[in-house]
Amino acid sequence: MALRAALAVCLLAVVLPPALAQLGTTNVTSANGLGLTPTIGQYLDNPGCNAQSGGCIWPTDLAEFSSGALFDIRVEVHSAMNGSTAHTVTIQNGAAGTPQSLDSYFGVTNTSSSPYTYTYVSDYSGATVRNNSVGEYWRNVTITDPGTYTVTLTTAGGQVTKVSWTIRPVTTRKATNVILFIADGMTVPMITAARLVSRGQAAGKFRRPMYMDTMPYVGLAHTSGYDAIITDSANSATAYNTGHKSAVNALNVYADTTSNNLGHAKIETIGEQAKRRRGMAVGVVSTAEIQDATPAAVFAHTRRRDDKNFITDQMFFGTNVSNGAFSVVSGKGLNMEVIMGGGGAYFHAPKSLNSQDYYGVAAGQGYSVALNKTAMYAAAAGGASKVLGIFHEGNMDKWLDRNVYPQNIAAQKEYPDGSGRAATDQPGLVDMVNVSLSVLSKNPNGFYLMVEAASVDKMAHALDWERMLGELIEFDEAVGYALAWNAARGNDTLIIATADHGHAYDVWGTVDTQVFNAAVTANASDAEKRKAIGVYQAAGYPGYTNEDVDNFPDTWAPRYTLAQGVADFPPFNENFQVKMSGVRTPAVPAGGSNFSTFNASRPQTYYVANPKDSVGGITQNGNLDPAQSQGVHTLTDVPVFAQGPGSIALARVQDNTRVYFAMHDALGLSSSDSTVTPDTMSTMCAQVRGF
Ligand SMILES: [Zn+2]
Repeated sequence: MALRAALAVCLLAVVLPPALAQLGTTNVTSANGLGLTPTIGQYLDNPGCNAQSGGCIWPTDLAEFSSGALFDIRVEVHSAMNGSTAHTVTIQNGAAGTPQSLDSYFGVTNTSSSPYTYTYVSDYSGATVRNNSVGEYWRNVTITDPGTYTVTLTTAGGQVTKVSWTIRPVTTRKATNVILFIADGMTVPMITAARLVSRGQAAGKFRRPMYMDTMPYVGLAHTSGYDAIITDSANSATAYNTGHKSAVNALNVYADTTSNNLGHAKIETIGEQAKRRRGMAVGVVSTAEIQDATPAAVFAHTRRRDDKNFITDQMFFGTNVSNGAFSVVSGKGLNMEVIMGGGGAYFHAPKSLNSQDYYGVAAGQGYSVALNKTAMYAAAAGGASKVLGIFHEGNMDKWLDRNVYPQNIAAQKEYPDGSGRAATDQPGLVDMVNVSLSVLSKNPNGFYLMVEAASVDKMAHALDWERMLGELIEFDEAVGYALAWNAARGNDTLIIATADHGHAYDVWGTVDTQVFNAAVTANASDAEKRKAIGVYQAAGYPGYTNEDVDNFPDTWAPRYTLAQGVADFPPFNENFQVKMSGVRTPAVPAGGSNFSTFNASRPQTYYVANPKDSVGGITQNGNLDPAQSQGVHTLTDVPVFAQGPGSIALARVQDNTRVYFAMHDALGLSSSDSTVTPDTMSTMCAQVRGF
């Protein structure tokens, strides 16, 4: 209590954060009076480019860097705007600094000067534009001196493009380890609903908190990318792992116009820095394919998150592109100590890169390879120092199917070796965290671990509310495991539990499914079915119980369920009841044809309600682009829960890139001194003011 009271005092001293103040006032201007702030419009021609000067610089305007982190610089000149691609590029430290060429400042000569023509769709109505351009890279450069830097691109025709970068102050280390928990797509209403069905209420009060609820600091994070207001997991996971905004589908790169997905301007991740600079261990755990965007953001660099065979290769060999190789441990990529998740299909033929056997590659690099839960625990018990656990050909199965409807898994052929067996022995998220912590904590230099509950998002997309809530409760159980682990070792670890973006989910009441189903049986109108939905005082309480106190509902099919859903959806039918036979498919392609009358230049499949889903349910007509088969991500800020050294820095409303800086600063990765020095009251207050 004393700590909290004192923090209230230092909170009073908070001034407007400089970074926030910057956003509205310090966009660097070009000769035309426009900076790299995106132009207003539905699509941007080329995010990161200045539409007026025809110049592009990545990293973009307002980029922030931790001191000493590696990154690539990309500069482009688009001749459509300039008549020529001739240009110069300089960098200047502070307002009074002397501009120097990038070649002399970084001591490297640009590695490629590549004239090419690329095409892009200029706007939504579809005009295709051809553009002659020249682009150059400066690879693997770094800036160590904190301060503000201006990079200026000047063309032969006198067009000027400028960006301003900030190198943040060096901080001393206060945490031994960092664990970043990401419940993909999780929002506050989802947490409230999960708390309701797992903990229950008495007299309007929750009986018990979720584990996340017990973390001392809570903030909000804003998730947009530099290309659009709505992010995907690649873009937002890049922000968490590098501190840089990126574009949809891009993993730890700035998306330029290069045709090679693997050649775009790279940004070093926190895991790569932790291993390169501190010799720390690194782990990645996900219930998705391990090549999926959020886990891949721990170690991969590509413009295209769907490059899953290349992403698997990068796991073991780094980015081996000719003009931008990057490998923390020679020949072994990031050489992570823990890799756990699904995605087995990309480890073996025919989907793996060049049909290579990556299980064999991993074994050759010293990994204990486990393809089921039993083998995973055996590897840990056997003292493995590196564990590769791959438990499914694709995304791992959901908590609800693993624990309540296992027959759905037995009916599938998803064992991760392609043998066509069922993957019936998959670990849960708590199992994977348990083994990860035991393996990673052997490293005396500490570790960085990212743990993702991927299918909170995937089930929200599928409008499969019960599976979504089951995943969220399991995520919370894993957070609880880590909190207890941290407490037992004196809380030397910064633990963060957050999401990468949201879905427009909420609960508006309860549904009496007995009344609802009677209306369905009677072939009654949708209006009659809707009479089963109770709102305000008619909502009362749902029927979920937890007699065995395992934090999961005893039944997912009570008479009284939640009236729940999202604000964005394809056409679908809703009956507000658990899908017992497997993951929901709300919409299916309309028979046979493209929706080509909608826009001739953008032929596309369009979706209609799946007639086999929620038969007799209320018909929802859809409010998305007809090419969308599922719900989509939304704009909402996401919650950030934090505990441990450095956690107070996250107790605020912030950009999602702050999560990276909080983790980086807690580990003091820019400091020459790796000694762990616990927070004092004044250093905690400094963190509050420091943003
Ligand atoms: Zn998603």
